[in-house]
Amino acid sequence: MSCKIESKLPEVGTTIFTVMSQLAAKCNAINLAQGFPSFDPPRALCDRIHHHFKNGANQYAPMSGVESLRIAIADKTNRLQGRVIDADRNITVSCGATEGLFCAIQAVVRPGDEVIVFDPAYDSYSPAVTLAGGITRHVPLEIEGNGADFAINWQRLSDTLNDKTRLIIVNFPHNPTGAILQYADLNRLAALIRDRDCYLLSDEVYEHIVFDGETHRSLLSHDELYERTMVVSSFGKTFHATGWKIGYCIAPAYLTDEFRKVHQFATFSICTPVQHGIADFLNSDPEFYEALPAFYQQKRDTFCRLLENSRFKLKPARSTFFQIVDYSDISDQDDLALAKHWTRDIGIASIPLSVFCQRAFTGTRLRFCFAKDDATLEAAATRLNRL
Ligand code: PMP
Ligand code: GLN
Repeated sequence: MSCKIESKLPEVGTTIFTVMSQLAAKCNAINLAQGFPSFDPPRALCDRIHHHFKNGANQYAPMSGVESLRIAIADKTNRLQGRVIDADRNITVSCGATEGLFCAIQAVVRPGDEVIVFDPAYDSYSPAVTLAGGITRHVPLEIEGNGADFAINWQRLSDTLNDKTRLIIVNFPHNPTGAILQYADLNRLAALIRDRDCYLLSDEVYEHIVFDGETHRSLLSHDELYERTMVVSSFGKTFHATGWKIGYCIAPAYLTDEFRKVHQFATFSICTPVQHGIADFLNSDPEFYEALPAFYQQKRDTFCRLLENSRFKLKPARSTFFQIVDYSDISDQDDLALAKHWTRDIGIASIPLSVFCQRAFTGTRLRFCFAKDDATLEAAATRLNRL
């Protein structure tokens, strides 16, 4: 045996989140790179999970998810998106959004199929497409289109669609740019794919983190789109608990059936007491996620205010817990090299945007995570303001 293997993912290295977090730890830098909050999940939620741990909810959960959690998700979706969904037939609890995205892609993409993603695109999509035998087609978001930064360029999308297009992956609220969709965008998308045999995968993990009084336009809210859509979300963002890795997929029954065929052999089921605890908390404390926009808007405002006198150019993020900054007045180094250099030499870790793009069109931009306590944001700003 040659002890060499022909890689199934030859172009894939270690994810940027691991690379930057490891470098930040090694250099003792402030980690504004990988997206995770520096604060704890709500106490009442932890108490409910603890309760279920202590009271026997410790064996396999049903493959589709604990019933009370699926019902709580259905209720929330009905209330917020006006979509009546069946907890048995339309919802599957997943191991974070990552597993949900992976299963959704494996469920529908066949060898030779094309899948459209919008750059900058979250880094887990394309490798999952490759493993399914599909081909990823990258459509860059328009940096300054339609008055909104990082908007979909409908003409480019239309030009890329063809008979091989099997799936379009959308991610709004958008990581890393904070772009959001308006309802008119959903109509445009529907019109473009009306006569095509293609499905949609909507990554909505930041569904509850939208600012300035804007509304999250879920693909679930659109009748025509919902018929062919799988929506994936995650409780990691909503409950400050990225380490719990619990999410869900909502889809029409015919897509849910296919999704579950993959999910049952990817993980089968998800941590039982955590599912029970989240179900209880969703029902008892909807105020928690209702307050998230105000909570994170304040963080965003604090971070932007702290950078007011810096040499960075920025437009306050419209959603998520990430702020994009343009460093062109400070350096002309490429973004990956600069992110590493600043982690080592000024002690601030960030994420370069170009790693999310097939062609680096995003220029001199970095992403900072502002889901941090104020002292951390202030310490980071002190270093960034010296540049
Ligand atoms: N999609 C996007 C856009 C994300 O930002 C993340 C991670 N934060 C995920 C998916 C993965 O979510 P999870 O940690 O629940 O797997
Ligand atoms: N989604 C998180 C981010 O964008 C990281 C997730 C991960 O580390 N895999 O930073």
